[in-house]
Amino acid sequence: MAVKQTAGRDALGEFAPKFAQLNDDVLFGEVWSRENLLSLRDRSLVTVVSLMSQGLVDSSFQYHLLNAKKNGITKTEMAEILTHAAFYAGWPKAWAAFYMAKEVYKEDGNDGGKSAHENSMIFPIGQPNNAFAQYFVGQSYLAPLSSSQVGIFNVTFEPKCRNNWHIHHADKGGGQILICVAGRGYYQEWGKAPQELHPGDVVNIPTGVKHWHGAAPDSWFSHLAIEVPGEGCSNQWLEAVDQEEYSKLN
Ligand code: MN
Repeated sequence: MAVKQTAGRDALGEFAPKFAQLNDDVLFGEVWSRENLLSLRDRSLVTVVSLMSQGLVDSSFQYHLLNAKKNGITKTEMAEILTHAAFYAGWPKAWAAFYMAKEVYKEDGNDGGKSAHENSMIFPIGQPNNAFAQYFVGQSYLAPLSSSQVGIFNVTFEPKCRNNWHIHHADKGGGQILICVAGRGYYQEWGKAPQELHPGDVVNIPTGVKHWHGAAPDSWFSHLAIEVPGEGCSNQWLEAVDQEEYSKLN
């Protein structure tokens, strides 16, 4: 998938249109986008070390630190990367880089990315979803947003967390609508291929359809779950998603 970048055009589109085009379309649109040859995570690692070794700690370095974090480089790994690079690039450069990295990774704490995920969306994560824990693999969280007229809940799944296969039943009306708000996840109907979900995606789940939803193995995920009003509504919880099948997702 091509990396979408508009920073060049935003900042220099008028002054240096060719440079802007090379930056957005070639450097990001082509080089950064060759994910089949080198992952975004590895490209971020190379870029951060390159900038740090030049002593660059401006806004572009900050951007690439944020990008590295987004591409999956953890706080512990970033500390190790800069420590390692310090021996080759220079001690003072590492000091300067650490000051900026510390800021970028500040809110990460030791919560496995939970607060970073919460900061990436407008809805709260809420409380551990203990009442339904028996129907989930991994930890999920629930934040009730609307409890009258139409029930709307923000459901958050930690990486690898998903619910068991289940069916929403109703005599009339009913079913569920999912609106994805943050992170990356999956939805799968029985007998069909899993569908990757991104913020903004909407899934309409009719009554009687066996399905599951949850996070990707390597990403937090949140969706709003809307209970479609109906008569005689109930949920039927079934077996857990096959571990081997789930592990194939990436
Ligand atoms: Mn459901």
